Amino acid sequence: MAYVITEACIGVKDKSCVAVCPVDCIHEKIAEGEDGKTYDMLLINPDECIDCGLCEPECPVTAIFADSDVPKQYEHYIKLAAIAF
Ligand code: SF4
Ligand code: SF4
Repeated sequence: MAYVITEACIGVKDKSCVAVCPVDCIHEKIAEGEDGKTYDMLLINPDECIDCGLCEPECPVTAIFADSDVPKQYEHYIKLAAIAF
């Protein structure tokens, strides 16, 4: 399991989440999705995230979810993070 950053981060990218992550697994990326679109945002490395949940309440735009709680319309962000790392 891992936490996942979704659409609302795009255009905000304030990095409040980066400041609290104890394992430094949140990185700014320009990633290409399976849909061919380019995503310029912060992404969580799912292999390094320890599921501590500290980042979630820090996000001013509620972009971060536990992967089991990601709203259906944002589920492609789970795959995007997996591809990006
Ligand atoms: S859940 Fe914890 S380890 Fe995972 S990205 Fe957020 S702060 Fe980092
Ligand atoms: S706190 Fe939210 S908006 Fe800010 S960089 Fe992290 S995910 Fe993006």
